[in-house]
Amino acid sequence: MSLSPIAPITDIHLIKPAYQKRLFKLGIKNLKDLFYYFPYRYNDFSNIILIRDVRIGAMATIQGRITEIKNLRSWRKRMAITEAYIMDKSGMIKAVWYNQPFLIKNIHSGDIVSLAGKVSMDKACYLSNPAYEKIANSSTSQLRHTGRLVPVYSETKGLTSRYLRYLINLFMPAVTLIKDWLPPEVKDSQRLLNLESALRQIHFPDNAKILEQAKRRLAFDELFLIQLNFLRRRLQWENQPALPISFDEGLIKNFVASLPFRLTDAQRRSAWEILKDLQQARPMNRLLQGDVGAGKTVVAGLAMLETVSAGAQTALMAPTEILASQHFITLLKLFSAYDLNIGLLTGAQAQLAYRGKIKKVTKSVLLSKIANGEINILIGTHALIQKKVEFKKLALAVVDEQHRFGVAQRSALQNNVVKIKDGLPAAIPHLLSMTATPIPRTLALAVYGDLDLSLIDEMPPGRQLIITKIVLPDGRLAAYEFIRRQVKAGRQIFVICPRIGEEVVDIQAQKDFFAAKNNIFSTLSVKKEIKAVKQEYQKLTQKVFPDLKVAMLHGQMPAREKNKIMANFSARKINILVSTSVVEVGVDIPNATVMMVEGAERFGLAQLHQFRGRVGRGEHQSYCLLFADSPSGATHARLKALTAKSSGFDLAEIDLELRGPGDFYGAKQWGLPDLSMASLGDSFLVKEARQEALNIIKSDPALENYPLLADKIKKFQTQAHLE
Ligand code: ADP
Ligand code: MG
Repeated sequence: MSLSPIAPITDIHLIKPAYQKRLFKLGIKNLKDLFYYFPYRYNDFSNIILIRDVRIGAMATIQGRITEIKNLRSWRKRMAITEAYIMDKSGMIKAVWYNQPFLIKNIHSGDIVSLAGKVSMDKACYLSNPAYEKIANSSTSQLRHTGRLVPVYSETKGLTSRYLRYLINLFMPAVTLIKDWLPPEVKDSQRLLNLESALRQIHFPDNAKILEQAKRRLAFDELFLIQLNFLRRRLQWENQPALPISFDEGLIKNFVASLPFRLTDAQRRSAWEILKDLQQARPMNRLLQGDVGAGKTVVAGLAMLETVSAGAQTALMAPTEILASQHFITLLKLFSAYDLNIGLLTGAQAQLAYRGKIKKVTKSVLLSKIANGEINILIGTHALIQKKVEFKKLALAVVDEQHRFGVAQRSALQNNVVKIKDGLPAAIPHLLSMTATPIPRTLALAVYGDLDLSLIDEMPPGRQLIITKIVLPDGRLAAYEFIRRQVKAGRQIFVICPRIGEEVVDIQAQKDFFAAKNNIFSTLSVKKEIKAVKQEYQKLTQKVFPDLKVAMLHGQMPAREKNKIMANFSARKINILVSTSVVEVGVDIPNATVMMVEGAERFGLAQLHQFRGRVGRGEHQSYCLLFADSPSGATHARLKALTAKSSGFDLAEIDLELRGPGDFYGAKQWGLPDLSMASLGDSFLVKEARQEALNIIKSDPALENYPLLADKIKKFQTQAHLE
């Protein structure tokens, strides 16, 4: 049988169609995928001992001859019990399996077996549900399920780790067909295993030390590809032309002087970095990082003003309708003294503002004004990256809350929006991305390796610390009283609920979701009532605050209604706004002083921090009340962190500690492969990988001398693009 590592599994007749389907479910389409389906942990069964040496409670592997095996009728109904006696030269022990009556077809009296499992105690010692395998000629080098570090894989229905071990071992000879694409000089300088050994050892490690080496090699591979990809993208990006925007000192000075506040030093520094980038004839690609409320909008505003004064257009894309509308209002006020046409384009609305006044326009009129250059500044949602939106001269694109956009959406803005028409050379716009998701410095290089970073690491002065409290069920009434007093004092309240209405609650989906997110999350709390916005709204209007004005907001409402409610809330016509996480990002209501979060355990740290950022934006002391069901568990550690820390960067470090890089801050958004997610925290390895990638790129940017690597990176790019 000749095997190709990329031949589809369906061509391998040794694997039955039913199993082929299950392998597909795990994303395994060919042998290469199979080799790259890594164990997520290992059972250490390497300690092979004599039967007389087993100890209760310990894991043990023993080997011997089966003297007897039989199925018993269980005392409890419906449970099949298989019992066997095994003898070696030192003694005899019983093994017991539950619900595996078919075992007696595989193991027979007289067989030599290797058994690994936990030693339990009943009347005598016995092995409980041990892993087993037959030993053909009492050699131990062929052991796969016992007597070694045994790989454990993520399974799917009908496909066990045991089967995967069998399959991987069966096809292991084909691993030699996978080409090692990592340049030899990199392997040498990093002292890495070759690919073949790494793939063998990751599944069936000889010992713990070589397993670490295998992991290091495979993690390095991914980090190296990521960095190489970053560096190449950066090189390509920098080789494109962009419109240089000259620095207009008078304009900037006047604008800054007109602001109702003094810019913080961090804002000045960031603005300066951005304005300097804009002067270049190659496109800026910069990420502006700053905690919630740090004042990113006005910094972007400066860059936008400079761009339009130079006679070019600029666009600002936000992830939600509400946020886009809000930016529209903010910017039209900010620029009311300038002769600028500011447009708003979302899926549902088109508006136009000039010198602080809003005019209604139709979508098609707005589109034509964008195309003929009349619109100087365009603000909007994903609607901005639709094909029919064509700019005359777009020189700066700003993406707010960039982590909320998919990889593809972000690159759409980079790649598509950009062509300058009318005979001008095609130039691509400068790109400014903004995020309040503070990632720890140790991760920055790994995740944003192709961007320049500007950091607003200082809050505007006079911001009060938001008092954050965890409210357990017995504190609910007191909390409502507190809210009532705040409203009486003229303040406004946010109430956040995890779901829209009961009808959308799917308990199994929830369970899966939480199990995947946080395996400590118990089924118990899932069974508990899920606070639904509609339900909560009714409760608050009818029972708790019948005398107050309570309104409801959720993502399934039509945009017009959402805007009306936000406008009413902003105009203080509403006391309490009950909402889903649609208010999560960017919303700015300075008179709101209480952020109350129902089912706070259900939200991640980053999201809770964002919610909290909705209050404390004005002059009044503000509060964040985290309603939680129980005072313990890992989720509670998250809530505790919030009560103790106010900076998003501190919280990010804690989140990294609590969850590890793989789960960190919705890390999947970066579209990186799984294994490397785990190694992102290894900032040393990340740096090494980047340095090696840099060496290669410097000496051979087109990778002409590295055909295998060139091929690999091409595949990596398409893969990353699809995610
Ligand atoms: P974010 O960084 O979360 O996007 P915003 O840009 O929405 O923050 O700013 C939050 C609030 O702070 C806004 O009301 C804005 O007008 C105000 N603000 C921004 N910069 C300053 C400053 N230097 N001093 C005082 N207030 C500021
Ligand atoms: Mg913002």
